[in-house]
Amino acid sequence: MTIFEKIIQREIPAHIVYEDHLAIAFLDISQISKGHTLVVPKKSYPNLLSMPDDLLQHLIVVAKKVAHAIEKTFKPEGFNLLNNNGEIAGQTVFHFHIHVVPRYSKDELHYQVNSRKEKDDLKLIAEVISSAL
Ligand code: AMP
Repeated sequence: MTIFEKIIQREIPAHIVYEDHLAIAFLDISQISKGHTLVVPKKSYPNLLSMPDDLLQHLIVVAKKVAHAIEKTFKPEGFNLLNNNGEIAGQTVFHFHIHVVPRYSKDELHYQVNSRKEKDDLKLIAEVISSAL
């Protein structure tokens, strides 16, 4: 059982901000910025690829509701929505979740995407991906 199932079953405490029959949202214990919240399905799926589409749609709507509430109250200047899949991508809890990360001008987060030096054949890569869709 993951730590999130224990939170859902009220076996361990959490600061819950929203709940409905399918989803729960609670403050991330690490608070990388003020109001950092996790949006979590009540039923456990390990990652994005295992999530049913309708539940995924519901969770993104819950993430939007939470973001609206944070926007009204703490007045961030923006948000990152983040979802880590796999250990290599930084996933530590293997129960799907969306991080809602409010961004403030004075926060100390530095999120940057650096492009690699190798040059990829973008035409070929796009063809490979689109042929699998
Ligand atoms: P990830 O690394 O994307 O799998 O995110 C897992 C997140 O769960 C981390 O940001 C942790 O800080 C958070 N977390 C772990 N345990 C708890 C807990 N008991 N209550 C709230 N958040 C937690």
